[in-house]
Amino acid sequence: MPHLRIAASPHLAGRPRRLASIAAAPWLIGLIGLIGVGAAGAIPAGAQGVRPGASPAGPPPEGSMPPPTAQVLADEIQDTATSLRDAALKGTKAWSLLSSLTTEIGPRPAGSAAGRRAVAWAVRTLQELGFSNVHTEKVTVSHWVRGEEAGEITAPYPQRVALAAIGGSVGTPAGGIEAPVVEVASLSALDHLDAAKVKGKIVFFNTTTDRTRDGSGYGRAVPVRAQGPSRAAKLGAVAVVLRSIGTDSNRLPHTGGLRYDASVKKIPAAALSGPDADLLAAEIAGGKPVRFRLRLGARTLAPAESANVIGEIPGREKPEEIVLLGAHLDSWDLGTGAIDDGAGCAIVVEAARRIGELKPRPRRTLRVVLFANEELGLSGAEAYAKAHAGELPRHVLALESDLGSGRVWLVESRVAVESMGWVRELARLVHPIGAVSGINEAEGGPDLGPLLRAGVPTVSLTQDATAYFDFHHTANDTLDKANARDLDYNVAAWSAVVYAAAELPGDFGRIKPPPPHR
Ligand code: ZN
Ligand code: ZN
Repeated sequence: MPHLRIAASPHLAGRPRRLASIAAAPWLIGLIGLIGVGAAGAIPAGAQGVRPGASPAGPPPEGSMPPPTAQVLADEIQDTATSLRDAALKGTKAWSLLSSLTTEIGPRPAGSAAGRRAVAWAVRTLQELGFSNVHTEKVTVSHWVRGEEAGEITAPYPQRVALAAIGGSVGTPAGGIEAPVVEVASLSALDHLDAAKVKGKIVFFNTTTDRTRDGSGYGRAVPVRAQGPSRAAKLGAVAVVLRSIGTDSNRLPHTGGLRYDASVKKIPAAALSGPDADLLAAEIAGGKPVRFRLRLGARTLAPAESANVIGEIPGREKPEEIVLLGAHLDSWDLGTGAIDDGAGCAIVVEAARRIGELKPRPRRTLRVVLFANEELGLSGAEAYAKAHAGELPRHVLALESDLGSGRVWLVESRVAVESMGWVRELARLVHPIGAVSGINEAEGGPDLGPLLRAGVPTVSLTQDATAYFDFHHTANDTLDKANARDLDYNVAAWSAVVYAAAELPGDFGRIKPPPPHR
């Protein structure tokens, strides 16, 4: 495709030109400083220790006009980014990429044969789309298999329930485990129980997940799934069942990973569908002793070999500087991994492909990384950070898409304070398609954790996750839950923001590692 020069549609009319062109010319800024022009566009002489191109004053107060600053996108960058954005709104390949992955591969859990086919699919796809340096990097992944599973309330009113083992759970003996049930609302409620009330029982965590636009409801509820089994085992529980960490009322359980504490016995753990958690709670509320039986065929096999898949759009001037676009290629076994995280893979691949068609290409290298095994241990992310440790100081920015296909509505960041002017400029590119600016405390996606801990800055293009946790990690995570138009909107946001990040004259500094994950 030739250099994109498509006029903005009327509803996306660009903002008026500003005093922007000086941004592309640090030498000019220096000159203005030298000759002592104290007016618009000049960095005050007192801004010692601030490197060229940096804003000495930090971000403007919310709602105020930005001060004149060097951190303003040059017109050329802004025009190209806007053109990329608006062209994507006319239709992209994201949906067909997602359809291909979910149709030809489908569920692709870590360690599985389908996981290996997904790696081959990704290599082939990146090559066919014209990426450079397409290759795989070996990752050792855990290999957990679900097996057959079943659950039932056996007393006082026997009923079968829909459940799914939590990923990584040990199985039960072949005949299952049957025991009395003790219900708790949260991890802290469990901590307040006497061990005598828990010993020999099945702990039922009945924790609800709040529906939120930014996914924070999931963030608050998910420690129950991750830590609940070992916390209950510490008090002598024989198994755990939990209300699915999800926001729907379908009779479909939500799986997900757990983290066993190595110091306590591993006990089986399973998620009940929302309606089945209601049923169990109603039987308990009746006041008669309640018993539950679960049979899980889950087991962990020997670790397997998989790979991160990488493809690049080499930079024209600073190819050694990298803007990383990440998503994860693995999925859970229950659905076809369409929204988690096929959508993210499609978005980042298609956005980078479109930027790669520009002539000239951006200054820095775009690197797409499709991570192995996000779901059961983040081993792909760790392997990447280890293999590229020497190169991480040259990772100028890292972004990840792992929240479904909903549109980007919030631009958050974690960059050096003196670089926040650039984030403001990137966010402006997506204000016309519905995104607002957020705070500089983004946690990044799960696969970015090791990079952020090494000081790599991030911008989060946070998607609307209002409906995401209705389907996430269930058999309902299928292609129809993604939306082609929303995917185009995502590609629009990603292509504009990533292009500008790869082209701008400044950078995002280095960050202090964020606080440890909840
Ligand atoms: Zn994910
Ligand atoms: Zn997931």
